[in-house]
Amino acid sequence: MSEPIPRKVLYIDLSSKRYWVEDRLDLFEEYLGGTGVATKLLEEELPRNVDPLGPENVIVFAVGPFNALYPTASKTVAMFKSPHTGNLGESHAGGRSAVAIRLAGYGAIVIKGASDLPVWVSVHGDKVYFRDARAIWGMTSSHTVGRILREVEPGSGVRTIMRIGRAGERMISYANVITETYRHFGRLGLGAVFGSKKLKALVVSGKGSVRVVDRKAYREVYDKIFKLIVDSPLMKKYHEIGTPINVRVLNALGALPSLNLQKASIDSADAISGEYIATNYLGRRVSCAHCPVACIHLAVVREPYEEEPYFYKTTFIGYDYEPIYALGSMLGAGEARDVLRLIDLVDSYGLDAMTTGVVLAWATEALSRGIISEKDLAGVKLRWGDYNAYMKAVQYIVEQPTELYRDLARGALYAARKWGGEDFALSFGGNEMAGYHTGPAAYANFAFGARHSHLDSAGYDLDQETIGRTPEPGELVRRLYEEESWRQVLTSLVVCLFARKVYKPEVVSEALKPLGIEMSVDDLYSLGRKIYREKYRLKLREGFRPEDVSFPRRIFETPTPHGLLSPEYMEKVKLEYVRLIREVTGEGASGHHDG
Ligand code: SF4
Repeated sequence: MSEPIPRKVLYIDLSSKRYWVEDRLDLFEEYLGGTGVATKLLEEELPRNVDPLGPENVIVFAVGPFNALYPTASKTVAMFKSPHTGNLGESHAGGRSAVAIRLAGYGAIVIKGASDLPVWVSVHGDKVYFRDARAIWGMTSSHTVGRILREVEPGSGVRTIMRIGRAGERMISYANVITETYRHFGRLGLGAVFGSKKLKALVVSGKGSVRVVDRKAYREVYDKIFKLIVDSPLMKKYHEIGTPINVRVLNALGALPSLNLQKASIDSADAISGEYIATNYLGRRVSCAHCPVACIHLAVVREPYEEEPYFYKTTFIGYDYEPIYALGSMLGAGEARDVLRLIDLVDSYGLDAMTTGVVLAWATEALSRGIISEKDLAGVKLRWGDYNAYMKAVQYIVEQPTELYRDLARGALYAARKWGGEDFALSFGGNEMAGYHTGPAAYANFAFGARHSHLDSAGYDLDQETIGRTPEPGELVRRLYEEESWRQVLTSLVVCLFARKVYKPEVVSEALKPLGIEMSVDDLYSLGRKIYREKYRLKLREGFRPEDVSFPRRIFETPTPHGLLSPEYMEKVKLEYVRLIREVTGEGASGHHDG
């Protein structure tokens, strides 16, 4: 049985095929787990300025004290150096990953070195096996790999299978890691780091349990949180329609990036909306382990076999708002079925859907402007809404038959810097944008969030809250910083950010008590600020310079719900952020930011 505070860290060296366990209670006591602990472990293990695709890169998976104990505490944090941005990489995924790691007895797993031959690593409690993966390396579909590993690995139930597809094997800088088929460590290229280490999959199965200090109090807090979650109207919406509920909402607001953000709404929004897909394609909903919400929606697409009458290939396709935006409205989709087919293809290769969509959107516009040619695209004529062309282009991003595809495999900004068209490459700090053209806070969030993710501080929420009364740059940055530092606590526990409105500071403090952890609301806020500081220090150590951040011109050309954004306003936002980051991370910096 594991202690309520995680403490064991499993180290795996792929070069020597050795593993060992260390007691790191010190780290978990100071940083709880998840993001906080992963930041410190990466800082300890990652040599400065290494090649993200070299054997010196390190992958950390970390869970926290709430995993396996409280509802929606279903996420695992992965940290690594990103091959996509060249800086800190952080990505979170649910499925069964967190519960499996915790019940295997670990708070974190650190993967170092690189294997000479393809392997998958299998962790069963305190035993680790290095298994020959040559037979599954190169398989076309990551889904097939998952099915095979399910058959050959024992311990179903609390077992996670994290694996890469062909994109990861080929080290495409935005390849992802898929877990339990429908969840992903999606952003910043963890899949490419797996590929560089010849690591096809990590399987973890846990049979243990977790002790709490005060059982009665734990039961009471658990029931309270459970009730708050199932009674929450937001969670009900996530259950019914899922995150694609946002398609219509953002389209009506004029905030749905479309046609490479030449527009912020699209006529076909209804036809690709969450409501339409749920009515016409929804097959079932699934949930991450220990979550009563079940927000994961699976569409059923049935395609007839050409030569076999009355036989159909039936595919379950997981869909969310972000893939629908990136592979739908950004590409001028007219029909949900096309978008679902493209999502499925991107997923089976193990590419990040958001980045892939933005890359394809950039290429479509670049072709229409004559910056690139059909020859560069190996004969593929990319046109808005032409999904046969997009399917082919995705295949070529993985196969890379031309120089352009090799560049597209490194992201929109990389390709634009080489071929031209940087003004409309929608990349922030090297990471392609999320689906929110809501206003200045979203873009400040993409550019300055520690992992350039919309989930860092939900700038899109702040934008929607302040339509008609855009905050002063100083206030905007302060509010984003407060939100982002609080989220460091949630992602250290580690709870799903969809439940953030349930896990208020008072609730978190109360829920820690039965685990024997006494932290007041103020303690929690200071811890959040401290983790933010440590994360940003690591980013600066790895070469991030907030002074160098710039915004693509396209965001100033298409009106947002706050009107046309002004470059002068965003420059002031940038100066505020530079000051904040320098102050928060500076040696001996004074003021309220230190924690
Ligand atoms: S709300 Fe959705 S993503 Fe979050 S833990 Fe539950 S099922 Fe997973």
